[in-house]
Amino acid sequence: MDLRELGRRAGSMQELDRTAPAPEDWRVELIGVPAGADVHLRLRLESVMEGVLVSGDIGVPVTGSCARCLEPVEDTLSLAIQELYAYEGSTTEATSEEDEVRRIEGDHLDLGSLARDTVVLALPLAPVCTDDCAGLCVDCGQRLDDLPADHAHEVVDARWAALAAKFGTDASGADASTSSPGTPGERPTTEEN
Ligand SMILES: [Zn+2]
Ligand SMILES: [Zn+2]
Repeated sequence: MDLRELGRRAGSMQELDRTAPAPEDWRVELIGVPAGADVHLRLRLESVMEGVLVSGDIGVPVTGSCARCLEPVEDTLSLAIQELYAYEGSTTEATSEEDEVRRIEGDHLDLGSLARDTVVLALPLAPVCTDDCAGLCVDCGQRLDDLPADHAHEVVDARWAALAAKFGTDASGADASTSSPGTPGERPTTEEN
């Protein structure tokens, strides 16, 4: 952003309404701004004693996946911005740590890093498709919200059944001759299950 038009007279003001394509790295693990998507900046730059006060908002589309059910998530973020860029040699600059304050470099201020920081810090680490997304069934991996409310697996029974089927067949061969009279060859499978 070129500041020559704004000038350094305290109180002067400039408005900015700009749309620019998003770079590729505006993202966190599960969600981000698609590269090339419209980033809409509506900013007001005010010249103040110490530098330039930038305020306004930034609007971006975001896409990603729900942290609970992995369904696609789409949203639009509208984020407030308020940031002071300090003049080189200003008291603010002199009394602030290097990374505490944004600086005006010559006649320019870097709105890109402000926009990026604002957006990336606002991206949720665990985005959700809906606030009450129930996630996935731990047993079958389907979305619980797509399943009937009484969806359940009889997990314990199923495991016991599997064990019973496995060991039952082996054991019953031996059992059949000792404890069970009748027809050893055919009884295990039908009775065990
Ligand atoms: Zn979800
Ligand atoms: Zn299930």
